[in-house]
Amino acid sequence: MDDFVIKGLVLQEIEYGEADRILKVLTAEKGLISVFAKNSMRLTNHLFAACGFLCYSEFVLRPGRNTEERMYNAVEAGYETDFRNISYSFEAQGVAMYMVEFTLALSLGEQPAEAELRLLMNCLYKICQQKTDPKLVKAVFELRMSCVCGFQPQLLCCQGCGVYDGERFCLDTEDGRLLCESCAAKEEKACNLDKGALFAVRYICLTEDKKLFGFRISAASAGLLFAAAEQYALAHMDRPLNSLKFLRSLSAWDPDQQSKKD
Ligand SMILES: [Zn+2]
Repeated sequence: MDDFVIKGLVLQEIEYGEADRILKVLTAEKGLISVFAKNSMRLTNHLFAACGFLCYSEFVLRPGRNTEERMYNAVEAGYETDFRNISYSFEAQGVAMYMVEFTLALSLGEQPAEAELRLLMNCLYKICQQKTDPKLVKAVFELRMSCVCGFQPQLLCCQGCGVYDGERFCLDTEDGRLLCESCAAKEEKACNLDKGALFAVRYICLTEDKKLFGFRISAASAGLLFAAAEQYALAHMDRPLNSLKFLRSLSAWDPDQQSKKD
């Protein structure tokens, strides 16, 4: 296989030896790939600027010889942009790290991941812009990524009786079913969405990419959305995420603190 050109987002950089790095790069065409960037820790090296964490770069890659553990060698790397403007708050940083860890945990093999890459970059961009509440970015990411990965909840109407609208609904975070208040009660399930939160869940899961953040939500409904989105996403994740522990350690994220305020 010859050298080829590919664009990707650096999701992980591991220092290796004296000045080398092993990168995990998310690409649209080949999913998540491992890239060996020789000498890229040296400031004067031509790979240095483009191989950093959260850089989106154009790589020229050469397939490695070991075919069992596929690794590409970076021949060239051109910096295009980066999403590193996340450290203005612990919360923003925490959400960005969480989204990256979440994506890494999706076990994306070498298969196209265009939708995953677009969603992650869209959400990181929102964080960098500093105009959207990081908690909201997190919820959008969680629900939308679940849909991209084939876990779209069933959102049209109550699965028990077919009712579409109501004050309170239950999104079953295990199997993605929607239940109205009375059908949820019959199954002894608690309601976790109000009208506004259900609207937002439907919007996030069903709208087109460009309009992903084009909805408004009240503070009360947002609290429900955040909790349901996280529960739903984590129900489909088979390992704990360290970045979530960090987020929860921030008092604003602590559910106990939240309920004390309420
Ligand atoms: Zn019902």
